[in-house]
Amino acid sequence: MTGSLYVISAPSGAGKTSTIRALFDRRMCPRLEYSVSYTTRKPRPREEDGRDYNFIDQNLFLDMIEKDGFLEWTKVFDRYYGTGRDWVLSRLNGGKDVLVDVDVVGAGALRERYPEAILIFLVPPTFEELARRLINRRTEDPEEVHRRLAQASWEIDRRMIFNYLVINDCLEEAVAEVERILLGGKGRRMADEEEFWPKFFRKPKSN
Ligand code: 5GP
Repeated sequence: MTGSLYVISAPSGAGKTSTIRALFDRRMCPRLEYSVSYTTRKPRPREEDGRDYNFIDQNLFLDMIEKDGFLEWTKVFDRYYGTGRDWVLSRLNGGKDVLVDVDVVGAGALRERYPEAILIFLVPPTFEELARRLINRRTEDPEEVHRRLAQASWEIDRRMIFNYLVINDCLEEAVAEVERILLGGKGRRMADEEEFWPKFFRKPKSN
């Protein structure tokens, strides 16, 4: 492999999709290509097949698993998600860098398979802010918000699989920080950021 494999994960509501979109819109990393995952879930409004995901049916997904078509795959409830193996390997072998967007389980699997991959974890500045963003986007009911926050805690507990921490307080700065990592390997090393987490989880003072 000659290109580098970059992996980005984030709790739901951290702003990962906006960060990735802005990263590619700015075109500061010309060697970087985005790996479009495969999924069996239905497209949401404004999602495009081949751009946001390759939307396929379950039989085809299971067939791809059988044929070792994924670098990693996962099943969340009854939906499958997977990173296409041939496309990623052909880009890396051709000297391109590849960015994959996966959940924390997928990130762990990629790290085991490719220890040289560079893993980035994106979070909002506080847990409170994560809750606020999930509530304000009004796409999930309260039960689902609760479930996603519990999932976020579980994911944060696994943070040490990541090399870098990016705090998404302001989108512009978060994108610039990801670019610095991609272009020069400069960023906050996860292992050096343990003092961040007590602040992240601190309950806001009530008046
Ligand atoms: P959504 O359905 O909201 O687009 O994505 C749900 C979750 O699936 C997100 O955390 C996203 O990062 C993750 N995901 C998307 N593609 C893949 C993939 O190819 N592999 C894995 N493991 N997770 C993925």
